Amino acid sequence: MPLKFSRFGTRFTRSTGALELMDDLGSALTSDDRQLMLGGGNPAKIPEIQARFRERLEQIAATPRDFDRMFADYAHPKGELTMRRSLAGLLRREYGWPLTEDNVALTGGSQAAFFMLFNLFAGEHPDGVKRRILLPVTPEYVGYTDVGLTEGLFRSLRPTIEELEPPFFKYHVDLAALHVDDSIAAICVSRPTNPTGNLLTDAEMEALDTLARARGVPLIVDNAYGMPFPNIVFRDATPQWNDNTIFCMSLSKLGLPGARTGIVIASEEVVDALTRMTAVLSLAVGSVGPVLVQPLIESGEIIDLSRRFITPYYRAKVALACEALQRELTGVPHKIHSPEGAIFLWLWLPGLPISSAELYRRLKQAGVFVLSGHYFFPGLEEPWQHRNECLRISFAQEEDVVREGIALIGEEVRKAFAAAT
Ligand code: PLP
Repeated sequence: MPLKFSRFGTRFTRSTGALELMDDLGSALTSDDRQLMLGGGNPAKIPEIQARFRERLEQIAATPRDFDRMFADYAHPKGELTMRRSLAGLLRREYGWPLTEDNVALTGGSQAAFFMLFNLFAGEHPDGVKRRILLPVTPEYVGYTDVGLTEGLFRSLRPTIEELEPPFFKYHVDLAALHVDDSIAAICVSRPTNPTGNLLTDAEMEALDTLARARGVPLIVDNAYGMPFPNIVFRDATPQWNDNTIFCMSLSKLGLPGARTGIVIASEEVVDALTRMTAVLSLAVGSVGPVLVQPLIESGEIIDLSRRFITPYYRAKVALACEALQRELTGVPHKIHSPEGAIFLWLWLPGLPISSAELYRRLKQAGVFVLSGHYFFPGLEEPWQHRNECLRISFAQEEDVVREGIALIGEEVRKAFAAAT
């Protein structure tokens, strides 16, 4: 007899895009067959960065006080104190943001932060109104899609599309279509955006900030790939914060996804709310990531490492992937989102005769994992053919893997178009 799960159980055990992604990632990492993994969000293993973390681990192992902080003590539910203090100091120095450690909450990865934040603000309120998170631009991060304790947590909008020098294009916030009424609990954007590599402009961010403050709702900025670390950005931009902004960071894309450390920079009221939720959900936050990086944050070395090693590493990777994709798709209708940050190329195949989900299956069969674009439209209710014409391709893996994977993508796309004519 199958087990009987609660409504919560049923909701949180169903098939999701995030599960498919993590499943693919897990099986590709453990399979004996050669799989070309251009699907997951795993960051690259950058030798200089790994060497620095290894050195730091050796130091910790040799220093009883640090070893105890890392393993032997529960941290405060806000997260390890010295890390929070050092980070507030770094952001004060770097950007002039008026922060103390009480503006910093740590979480078990930023995915957990989004679970807490979205459910903190959206859902049914005591006045009986069901409020939602507004995603002003889709495509947007697949990981948000299923975190709601109730259905229908998101409302989202289509972007406007700017045609750039072929084959490039760029999504923009459709500011004219953006209305924030009483049914909106908060606005959220990822910047740079996973999956598209879009870096919303400073002007767009200012417009969202002004709107959010005028309507009295927080602006959540998912900065998992952004500045000042890991700084996987390829264009100038300025991060902004005020006490209506909830600025979310992560240690994952520095190369530490196993440390599961998310960071939320927000007003003391929001930090306090997250702290209370953490105490219930997990007592305290893990200290492995925080203790590992704290001296690098205190000294600012983390910014230097990001600029010297992480940004150039991905800049070279994205150039190679773009070049390969253009070469392999010559003569086939295709567009690429302007690669401005993060670790993905977003490929749009206008008029693709099969769905992107079918293309994903054929590619998986051929030995290359990507993600079908249709997952990346959380909360978009209106039909839009565009959502079935896109793929997300990670360029974080080794050069030959990216090259071979893109060659196979070219082959399958070409076959799909040829079969239709
Ligand atoms: N936000 C974005 C935009 C991401 O791409 C990811 C991971 O891929 C996350 C959040 C979650 O990262 P983590 O939970 O590892 O901090």
